[in-house]
Amino acid sequence: MEDREIVLSVQHLKKYFNVGKGSVLKAVDDISFDIYKGETLGMVGESGCGKTTCGRTCIGLYDKTDGQVLYKGKDVHTLMGKERFEFKKKVQMVFQDPYGSLDPRMTVSDIIGEGIDIHHLASGKTERQNMIYNYLEMVGLNREHANRFVHEFSGGQRQRIGIARALVVQPEFMVLDEPISALDVSIQAQIVNLLVELQKKMGLTYLFVAHDLSMVKHISDRVAVLYLGTLVELTTSEQLYANPNHPYTQALLSAIPIPDPEIEQERDKNKIKLEGEVPSPINTKPGCKFRKRCNYAMPVCDERMPELKDIGNQHFVACHYCDQQRKL
Ligand code: SF4
Repeated sequence: MEDREIVLSVQHLKKYFNVGKGSVLKAVDDISFDIYKGETLGMVGESGCGKTTCGRTCIGLYDKTDGQVLYKGKDVHTLMGKERFEFKKKVQMVFQDPYGSLDPRMTVSDIIGEGIDIHHLASGKTERQNMIYNYLEMVGLNREHANRFVHEFSGGQRQRIGIARALVVQPEFMVLDEPISALDVSIQAQIVNLLVELQKKMGLTYLFVAHDLSMVKHISDRVAVLYLGTLVELTTSEQLYANPNHPYTQALLSAIPIPDPEIEQERDKNKIKLEGEVPSPINTKPGCKFRKRCNYAMPVCDERMPELKDIGNQHFVACHYCDQQRKL
């Protein structure tokens, strides 16, 4: 993995929000990771864990509070002029809500054509129209859809339009921000399969943000698990599912239902349940952020925040007792 080109390098990234009366919400709190060319990094965690904020800060939609994000070696937050314009073409985002992210007053043709116009990708009307048709077909729609409005489509079709809009400018890297969570379960797999197919065809690199660990497994090469704005585990998809180490990851995996009542009933006896409230991300105290819900917490967990440690085999865990927990 180390020999591959790093597309995005995130170093000690922090994104804090002032929420009044001197309080600070630490949405992203000192996160570091790399994303390699052609891979999909899944980013998972419960709602409010900072994964969407992290994705948006990584591509410069939010200013950072501290740290650095490098896209192909260049600081995302200081890009100016032509470099910034080029970056906005190479890096695209697909949003969670296909209903809210597309302008209802525009036709599909206008929505997809906007990027072509901004980046001057077509030499004339015919080429522009052909590009729109090509990208519609690439995402499983057809040219008859071009002159319709967004309200005429289903949720899955709208997400396909959102994907076509992102792809038409020929990006290299895409942040997929919970692109399937607003869709019916039956449609989710279709969109995931489409994203996998497009990645192969166009050599794309993805940051796939999701709260659903089961779907992340199918699309991700590696998975990063976030808890209250910090990275608690990062490893390959296979390692994470075969040998989860952090107690939080173990609990998340344990909560994935198995579609067989007998196996599920048997498994229910051994399920690791997440006890306690999710602590507030506002004015967090020192120590491990997971300690109030962790069955293995010790006094040191109250005192010191665990660092992300390399436990071998491309596996990184932020827990003072990661060596012991691997044997649990
Ligand atoms: Fe649990 Fe302590 Fe590890 Fe945090 S550092 S996950 S509280 S054992």
